[in-house]
Amino acid sequence: MIEVNLMETEMQASGKVLLTQRVKFSQGEIHIIEERCKQCRLCIELCPKEVLQESEKVNGKGYHPPEVVEGPEKGKTCVACGFCEVACPEYAIWVEEKKKMLQGMEIYGKNSLNR
Ligand code: SF4
Ligand code: SF4
Repeated sequence: MIEVNLMETEMQASGKVLLTQRVKFSQGEIHIIEERCKQCRLCIELCPKEVLQESEKVNGKGYHPPEVVEGPEKGKTCVACGFCEVACPEYAIWVEEKKKMLQGMEIYGKNSLNR
């Protein structure tokens, strides 16, 4: 998933708009060790993109581990923020960042990355 943030909009002396964009190719690959989970729900509650939910599965301790519900069609995409990983007291979830940030420039409505 590609996230585009408009960082700055400048009005040139000529009156034409110069747009500067930061184009972020940041995507997380979520790993869950279901047997470690104790269903505290911290990862679910703290995920800013709401890509985690409690699953119907039951692990060996009787808990429901989280599952990933992301997808462009659902408007939910992991952005590799790492909140879930830091929050989990059982070290049961971690995220790999798949792509790094690129910088793009858009001038007069034309995106330099698409030329
Ligand atoms: S890394 Fe961030 S966006 Fe991805 S699942 Fe964890 S909390 Fe949610
Ligand atoms: S934070 Fe860890 S222990 Fe808590 S629900 Fe998520 S995976 Fe399970």
